[in-house]
Amino acid sequence: MSEDNSSDSAAERLASVQADIAAACQRANRADNPPMLIAVSKTHPAEAITPLIAQGHKDFGENRVQEAAGKWPALREQHPDIRLHMIGQLQSNKAGDAVRLFDMIHSLDRPSLAKALGKAMAEQQKHVPCLIQVNIGDEDQKGGCAVSDIAALLDTARGHDIPVIGLMCIPPAGREPAPYFALLDKLADDHGLAQRSMGMSGDYVTATEIGATYLRVGSALFGPRRG
Ligand SMILES: *Cc1c(COP(=O)(O)O)cnc(C)c1O
Repeated sequence: MSEDNSSDSAAERLASVQADIAAACQRANRADNPPMLIAVSKTHPAEAITPLIAQGHKDFGENRVQEAAGKWPALREQHPDIRLHMIGQLQSNKAGDAVRLFDMIHSLDRPSLAKALGKAMAEQQKHVPCLIQVNIGDEDQKGGCAVSDIAALLDTARGHDIPVIGLMCIPPAGREPAPYFALLDKLADDHGLAQRSMGMSGDYVTATEIGATYLRVGSALFGPRRG
């Protein structure tokens, strides 16, 4: 594929995902309040990202601090209005780098991380909005805070001066996602949180219909992951 073709198709994929979201918003009566589309660029190099930036896209997601640190500072220098979202599991010893690099963190999932993030935010005087990642399917192997621990983690995070703005989830693989999205939507309501980060390439339409405010879409925009 030539470079021109690949940038055309990235732009086309973005337009097609945006059209799907707009149609879902019409159906769900939220055309005036659409979700924010985060383009998840993990594993993809800067050359794959710049066509979306050229289309005016501003919100991007990464799941590894180290990869983001290698890729984004140069891009952001040229495009200072980009917003970078941390969506992957975060080690406490990377909290300082995460606070420095990212504009939003979707994967706050435990008290020790809240403590590390709170300390880094205080040191850097940068209070990055966070979402609590919830283990919505109560899966053994899955990261995320247990549903029954949300209130306590919220207290801990607020005690460390972390602005918590919402909840995030990844439904169990291979199951109908709608009930899990509906549960996250209800839990966010119960805890008085406005933001719901849910919906990926396979289910962003469903998530939009159920009230997602942030969609995290990778392969539908960038093609299969590399490396
Ligand atoms: C990779 C990733 C996504 C995007 O996945 P796609 O299926 O490629 O859209 C969304 N959320 C998280 C947490 C991810 O790690």
